[in-house]
Amino acid sequence: MVVVIIIIILLFAIFSIVIKHNHNKAEQMRIEATKKAEEEEIMKIAIETQKIEELKKEKQEEENATGIIYLTFDDGPTSDSTPQILDILKDRNIKATFFVLHYDENHEQFIKREKNEGHTIALHGYSHKYSEVYPSADTCLENFRKIKEQVYQTTGIESKIIRFPGGSSNIVSKKYCEGVMTELVTRVVDEGYRYFDWNVDSDDAGHAKTSQDIYNNVTSGIKPERNNVVLMHDFAGNHKTIEALNDIINWGLEQGYVFRRITEETPMVTHGVNN
Ligand SMILES: [Zn+2]
Repeated sequence: MVVVIIIIILLFAIFSIVIKHNHNKAEQMRIEATKKAEEEEIMKIAIETQKIEELKKEKQEEENATGIIYLTFDDGPTSDSTPQILDILKDRNIKATFFVLHYDENHEQFIKREKNEGHTIALHGYSHKYSEVYPSADTCLENFRKIKEQVYQTTGIESKIIRFPGGSSNIVSKKYCEGVMTELVTRVVDEGYRYFDWNVDSDDAGHAKTSQDIYNNVTSGIKPERNNVVLMHDFAGNHKTIEALNDIINWGLEQGYVFRRITEETPMVTHGVNN
C-alpha cells in the first residue's frame, strides 16, 4: 500500500515538473517571438527612414543640378548590346530605363539584371512590327498587355511605363489605321499607363554613323533646367552607342546634370500626335 502511494506521489511530481517545463518553454518561445517581431519592426522603420533620406538627397541633388538626364534604351534586350550597356551603367553607378520588346528565355537573364541593378524596365511592345501593332487601338493595347505580362512573369514587376513603337508622333500608323494615335494617347492613360516619348534623339537608329555623331546629337540636344529624355537603342550591333556612352556620361556630369531612371512619378515627356 505504502509503495503504491509513493509511486502515485512520484508520478504526480514528475507530471508537475513536465507541465511546468512545457509552460516555461511556451513562455520562452512567446518572449522570443515578441522580441523577433520587435526587431523586425525596428529594421523596417530603419529601412523606410533610409529610403526617405535617400529620396531627400536625390531631390536635393536634382534641385541643385543643371538639369536631369534620363537615358533610355529601346528595342532590347539583346545578348550583344544589353550586357555591355549594363556594364557601363554599373561601373558609373547610373540608373537608366529600358523599353523592352518580347524576348525568349535566353534573354530573361538581361531583364533580371536590369531589375537587380536598379534600372526601370518599361514596355515598348510584344512586337515592334507596325503592321501588327497599329491595325487598331485594341491591337496596340494588346501588344502592351502581352509584354507587360511577360515582364511580370520574369520579374514580378507590373510595369506601367510605355513607349509607343515609333513614338506617339509616328505617321507610319496612318498606313494601318487612320487616327489610331489620337485614340491611343488617351486610352493608354485611362488604362493606367504613363507614356514617354523623347526630347533628345541620339539618332542611333537613323542617320548617326559614328559614336562621335551619337555624342554630338545627344550633347547638343540636352538642355538645362528640364527633364531630358534621351532616345537610344540596345538592339544588336549598336556598338556606336556603346562607344559613346561613357563620354556622354562624362559630359553630363561635368555640366552638372544628374542621371535618373524614369519612374511612375516622372512627369510624362510626350510629342504632339500626327495621326
Ligand atoms: Zn523601337
